[in-house]
Amino acid sequence: HHLDVENELTLFLDRKIAYYKEYLSGECANYIPELKVVNPDYLAFSLMLPNGKVHLNGDYQVPFTLQSISKVITFMAACLYNGKSAVLEWVDVEPTGDPFNSLLRFELNENKKPFNPMINAGALTVASLLPGLTPMDKIQGVTRLLSSLLDKDVTINKKVFESEWETAYRNRALANFLMENNLLASSVDDTLFTYINLCSIEITVEDLAKIGLILSLDGFDPVRRIQLIPAPITRLTKVLMFTCGMYNSSGKFAAFVGIPAKSGVSGGILGVVPPSLRSHPLLSDGCGIGLYGPAIDAHGNSVKGARLLEDFLQSYDVKIF
Ligand code: GLU
Repeated sequence: HHLDVENELTLFLDRKIAYYKEYLSGECANYIPELKVVNPDYLAFSLMLPNGKVHLNGDYQVPFTLQSISKVITFMAACLYNGKSAVLEWVDVEPTGDPFNSLLRFELNENKKPFNPMINAGALTVASLLPGLTPMDKIQGVTRLLSSLLDKDVTINKKVFESEWETAYRNRALANFLMENNLLASSVDDTLFTYINLCSIEITVEDLAKIGLILSLDGFDPVRRIQLIPAPITRLTKVLMFTCGMYNSSGKFAAFVGIPAKSGVSGGILGVVPPSLRSHPLLSDGCGIGLYGPAIDAHGNSVKGARLLEDFLQSYDVKIF
């Protein structure tokens, strides 16, 4: 019976991917030259269940860079090394209706902190808090955590890094603004170098699904049976994803898609399905989801990825409230 359910899922996903591949358009991010040249038609889906079973559909072999999805890992790494409360002295947990790269005067809230760690201002501050004196140490703090979650080495796409580094005018302005307000714990250049390298970590939808599954289970890897991240850190991270993870459409995404998720301008989406008895029996123990579709909308979210995710969650009765 379980096999029937899984076969049904595979058929469902193959059909939906064929549909959304044809049906929807959009454009790749154009402010980072290396992202602009990607094939906008890619669409990939991955789902990982607590029993370790993985579903892979569409262009799942195509690697891409984390971009803003790195903000999730960076935040957890900073909390792991410094403690949650130390990190929250520097950055707030308040959503904003502003675009991810909104400028300067909109960047700090009334507490004189960046609004949250999922937008650029907050992520730059959090990146500066990573342990170590050099950017290399800080980058390693994140890649080490990511390697432990994925149980493999992770690599940084140097071409994408160079491409963003050379054109990071706005993020450089933002980093200078944060420094002026005593909101960076490392130099402007070191912080920017760290942040852009973290955005350039290469990943696949399968990796995202695995991260999503571990988040779903509050930091526990059900396959290796180890607690990889303390539960309170993962819970706070899921709240931030739910309230702030999808740029300035986070509210609508929470309302109509309804799970904690984080997207990046490369077109990736990390989705977390918390365990819920209301969901379809296949998903009631929770799961992780990874999507990739490089054509993004005006907010910065994958057009095809978000539609496919919404369709999937509705069809499988995922309701977390
Ligand atoms: N590296 C990109 C930037 O900071 C990430 C943006 C994103 O994915 O939202 O502009």
